[in-house]
Amino acid sequence: MNICIFCGSSAGVNPVYAETAVSMGTLLAERGHTLVYGGGRTGLMGLVADSALKAGGQVLGVMPRALVQKEIQHTGLTRLEIVDSMHERKLKMADLSDGFIALPGGMGTLEEIFEQWTWLMLGIHRKPCAFLNVNGYYDDLKNMIARVVTDGFMQAHHVDTVLFDTRAEAILDHFAAYSPPPIKWSEPAKPR
Ligand code: AMP
Repeated sequence: MNICIFCGSSAGVNPVYAETAVSMGTLLAERGHTLVYGGGRTGLMGLVADSALKAGGQVLGVMPRALVQKEIQHTGLTRLEIVDSMHERKLKMADLSDGFIALPGGMGTLEEIFEQWTWLMLGIHRKPCAFLNVNGYYDDLKNMIARVVTDGFMQAHHVDTVLFDTRAEAILDHFAAYSPPPIKWSEPAKPR
């Protein structure tokens, strides 16, 4: 499979984040998956790519022209695609990938995984989405998602259309056995 990893262009303050990025890249390569990611060599993004390459894996990077200098593109990738805009980058990454995993990261990471998760719920694609929740990094986000449901902005069964797990292996196992959820607007509206 082609697995898209969204993660910080920074490394974070706790070394566990860097360790997680290295194990993720290594695991992808060991399982024969191709890494798709944003193409940078800084932070967790660079570590995931380096570790996948070091373990003999294939790595595809997709970077918008305007970010090529700012994000310092990785020069050792299997393939680096330069695109014209951030929107084109996200579309290209979505098209190239069979599933999406967010490691810890900043606003870019959150924006990217939320886009893919909402596209899954809308049926724009039928590919699995997951958060690798190391060090409890995404615990507050899980609480926020529960609040979205209790306050009536999302139906409870949609919570399970994204996976939170502390183990990368479990996420990849889930992806391998995955069958997509019903599309949001194809279901009859439920009375509240
Ligand atoms: P960050 O998690 O903020 O370090 O960003 C991680 C990746 O997301 C980097 O490749 C950023 O270029 C990218 N990114 C930042 N902002 C956005 C955005 N608004 N939409 C999509 N990607 C973004």
